[in-house]
Amino acid sequence: MHDVLATPIEYLKGVGPQRGALLRSELNIATYQDLLLHFPFRYVDRSRFHTVRELAEDMPQAQLRGVLGPLRTVGEKQGRRLTATLTDKTGSVELVWFKGARWLQASLKPGQEYILFGKPSAFNGRINFAHPEMELAASWEQGLEAALQPVYSTSEKLTAKGLSSRAIWKLQKTALTQVEGQLREVLNAELVEWLGGISREQAFRQVHAPQDQGRLDSAIRRLKFEELFFIQLQLLEQKLLLQQSLRGNVFVSVGELFKRFYEHHLPFELTGAQKRVVKEIRKDMGSGTQMNRLVQGDVGSGKTLVGLLSMLIALDNGFQSTLMAPTEILAQQHFATISRFLDGLPITVRLLTGNTKQAERKAILTSLEMGEVHIIVGTHALLEDRVKFKRLGLAVIDEQHRFGVAQRARLWAKSPVPPHVLVMTATPIPRTLAMTLYGDLDTSVIDELPPGRKPIRTVHRYDSSRNAVFGFMEEEIAKGRQVYVVYPLIEEGDPEKMARAGPGAAELKDLTDGFESISRRFPLPKYAVSMVHGRMDQATKDYEMARFKKGETNILVATTVIEVGVDVPNASVMVIENAERFGLSQLHQLRGRVGRGAEQSFCILMTGDKLGNDARARIETMVRTNDGFEIAETDLRLRGPGDLMGTQQSGLPELHIADLVADAQLLQQARQVAMRLLDKDPGLKDPKNVRIAAELAERKRGKPLWGRIS
Ligand code: ADP
Ligand code: MG
Repeated sequence: MHDVLATPIEYLKGVGPQRGALLRSELNIATYQDLLLHFPFRYVDRSRFHTVRELAEDMPQAQLRGVLGPLRTVGEKQGRRLTATLTDKTGSVELVWFKGARWLQASLKPGQEYILFGKPSAFNGRINFAHPEMELAASWEQGLEAALQPVYSTSEKLTAKGLSSRAIWKLQKTALTQVEGQLREVLNAELVEWLGGISREQAFRQVHAPQDQGRLDSAIRRLKFEELFFIQLQLLEQKLLLQQSLRGNVFVSVGELFKRFYEHHLPFELTGAQKRVVKEIRKDMGSGTQMNRLVQGDVGSGKTLVGLLSMLIALDNGFQSTLMAPTEILAQQHFATISRFLDGLPITVRLLTGNTKQAERKAILTSLEMGEVHIIVGTHALLEDRVKFKRLGLAVIDEQHRFGVAQRARLWAKSPVPPHVLVMTATPIPRTLAMTLYGDLDTSVIDELPPGRKPIRTVHRYDSSRNAVFGFMEEEIAKGRQVYVVYPLIEEGDPEKMARAGPGAAELKDLTDGFESISRRFPLPKYAVSMVHGRMDQATKDYEMARFKKGETNILVATTVIEVGVDVPNASVMVIENAERFGLSQLHQLRGRVGRGAEQSFCILMTGDKLGNDARARIETMVRTNDGFEIAETDLRLRGPGDLMGTQQSGLPELHIADLVADAQLLQQARQVAMRLLDKDPGLKDPKNVRIAAELAERKRGKPLWGRIS
């Protein structure tokens, strides 16, 4: 059967090749179905008409009915514009268009009665309308008079070709007529009932041409649910499939190395949360199916150790492990930590990054393939094909969201039986996001910090009170503590940002200026200040870092290199310069560099006097709470899921109508409903669910929603 929904958008009445091409390039609309999935982002009430005399500049929108005067082109070059007037019984108002003059001149009919809709604004003390929506009163009366009218996102280019929000609305109506009877139901009867008895087709009609608020609300809810439900169903089915079919190496024993480490090398007791998570991991790795587990834990909750214990279990069962980190510095840090922890045990740990020297690399690769290296720590360099293992049993991935999907998949190729996968996120992920991004993973949360940590005190200070901040630093240093001062500077470690922002010379100047003024305020020989940034050569960087670590310098002026880098328990003050320029998660990560010792620690967020709303909200959140999960939730609300996770890389599914922030509750419901459904009818074989099964198959066949670990 011919699928009307898949018809190329050009064929829709009112579109044609030119507009069709634009709809594709501007809005990604290629078919009738794509158009119908271009949902309105709001609705306006068009039941009310105003008169010219009533118009005021502060009205959010106004609707007039009047006669259009002659069109005039005025102004030169950049200031060139099209003007006209609209006149009703009470007076005239000026209309102006800066774009699309040619099309407007061809389509607007002076002398005719029009319905105008737009936002009144004041110009030279008079009210006018810029780019109002115009509709011939005659065609208006032919049935576009609905009170609740959808507003669609469009673009300048589209508007210039006559595809205003209103024109898109007309296309929607045409499309709805064309596809009549084709918008198959995809839910079962029970769910349709539960969602207010609105069929899928009815829902599309209501959303694009609502009859009243009540029915519109139900339609929106139904479509949002449907969208979230199928995402969850796909994830959960995937998870079930993995559990049933993916053979995993069975790590039966917790052996000698684990025990020796646990009893003789571990310098402290595990927290309750760490114990619980290790137990969950042991269970997974012993189950016979492949582990796919996400471990979330706040900064400093001790994830590294959990990763290490898991690797020891792999080792005890005769398998190698790998620990992958997103940056060189983090990889080095992990390598150092792990080597220190394992000191004295017969375990060979190696580091492999892009900077590993050729000869050394060769030696490492050979011994890795021979099975002589037990744990290999590194960066993306580990993914290269020439990196071969003798028996890879476990991959621990730190800060997973910075890894691309395709890169992760390459890990699989390194072992005949897929290795167990443990993903550790350094930044807590909001629940709704985790559910959507990692819905096919099992999740563990380390929700407890090691004992004895004092909550960090965070304050906000303006640049104008820098002297007081210096004074405070002086007091802390007098007590024997050390201080970080961090500047925002784009790092080599983040190629994505580098590509976007260039070399960041101005910021480097901020940093070096800051270093100089701090060195003047804290002069030798009484004080010592070090500086570290990503543009230094490795040897200098290591040297400066080591001096600070050993307590030979009092202050470390640095860039975000230290975000994930150093662990200096004696450092108790973190001063973040230009804090308004950092994202929330990053601020939280930076703050996590202090508060690692027994002393009270402080985080001072420095900003300029003028702060935007978002920046202010970020700073206030930081001052209010130390809870990484709460911070992540706020970050999500402020930035939206795409920016938070980096849509490209993270593989967030495209959402047409649902919103991971606003619809958190519905998402929760959708997941539960999907879970219950798969529980009762795992293969979706029940005739009741035939439509759900068909839609799921369709979605899987079409574009797979997003990649994933497996
Ligand atoms: P994360 O990676 O979760 O931010 P780390 O693994 O770096 O945290 O641990 C933070 C610090 O806490 C490290 O110095 C680590 O040695 C220490 N640590 C980890 N677990 C414990 C524990 N159970 N008790 C005391 N200190 C711990
Ligand atoms: Mg860590």
